[in-house]
Amino acid sequence: MASVRLDDVRKVYGNGQVAVHGASFEVADGELMVLVGPSGCGKSTLLRMIAGLEEISGGTLSIGDRVVNEVAPKDRDIAMVFQNYALYPHMTVAENLAFGLKLRGHPRAVIDQRVNAAAETLGLGQMLDKLPREMSGGQRQRVALGRALVREPAVFLLDEPLSNLDAKLRHSMRTEIARLHRQLGATMIYVTHDQVEAMTLGQRIVVLKDGQIQQIDTPMALYEHPANLFVAGFLGSPAMNVLHGRLERADGLRLVLEAGLSIPLGDARVGEDWLGKPVAMGVRPEHLQPAAPEAAGFDTRVEVVEPVGSEVFVNQVFGTHPLVSRLPPRQLPQAGAALRMAVDPAHLHFFDAGTGRRLW
Ligand code: ADP
Repeated sequence: MASVRLDDVRKVYGNGQVAVHGASFEVADGELMVLVGPSGCGKSTLLRMIAGLEEISGGTLSIGDRVVNEVAPKDRDIAMVFQNYALYPHMTVAENLAFGLKLRGHPRAVIDQRVNAAAETLGLGQMLDKLPREMSGGQRQRVALGRALVREPAVFLLDEPLSNLDAKLRHSMRTEIARLHRQLGATMIYVTHDQVEAMTLGQRIVVLKDGQIQQIDTPMALYEHPANLFVAGFLGSPAMNVLHGRLERADGLRLVLEAGLSIPLGDARVGEDWLGKPVAMGVRPEHLQPAAPEAAGFDTRVEVVEPVGSEVFVNQVFGTHPLVSRLPPRQLPQAGAALRMAVDPAHLHFFDAGTGRRLW
């Protein structure tokens, strides 16, 4: 196993498109790091540069102690798993697993031992004689993982490996990859556009937008302390509510959205020098709840109620401003009803309305 380190790694494509602007981070030996962001943010380009499939335009890439900018993919000691698992259709599972090792001239005994070990780890023991067309999508993806596993690489690179699977299978394969990671103690870099996948799988997450790293941290730290409005809106479902207004202290601290429309913020901690200035306030759906009787609140109207079983998402409007709250299933308000709400002062996020940067 090995660490992977990027120092100011850039990618400029031939047409002048800057796909990655100076990325710097280190994936520790044995860590599972997720690269996440919307389509076109540069995550695949970043992974393909680490794999050696894409030339690096600037900066330094190291695997372990070795700078690998100029090292060919086959000599980087990595194995990659793609979305299109591309198994050889005329080969059995065993042959598919063994193929890469044969090509590299490993002795028969080593190949058999590694194929059997990978099949065991992935629960493919009964399927070694099957052809890919006789297997389900999940089983085929497992064989694709197995092909990476038998290589015993220093680093696993996974590019949206579960995107072709249905939601249920994706969930079980996610658990399997997490288990595999723990069992192997492997260094893994995993690319996805799916924020739920990123949150549930990553030990740490690199959030990207437009080729720029927005924030790197553990899933919960990103959720609780997003560095800017982009990260705040990207992670979490339903997304964080964002309200633009000015902070004022008159009759207690309030966020004033417009004349006659304000939200009491109780004892929220705010930077005094931002009073009166335009800010964006973020509040997650679980921190927006019906106000207790007698407590300060603000009046909303319920528009759409979405029960999802374990909880209910309530879409509301405050004036013309849309809001979503996340309530326990026993509270099922009616569409059209008035609902007095309050924000949790301990869980508010404030951003510079101009730059989107977190304020405190
Ligand atoms: P993601 O994986 O996050 O969807 P990519 O890394 O594929 O994003 O692409 C990042 C940016 O680089 C996009 O704007 C994309 O259009 C551009 N891009 C990707 N591949 C090429 C290429 N071969 N030539 C020119 N531009 C490219």
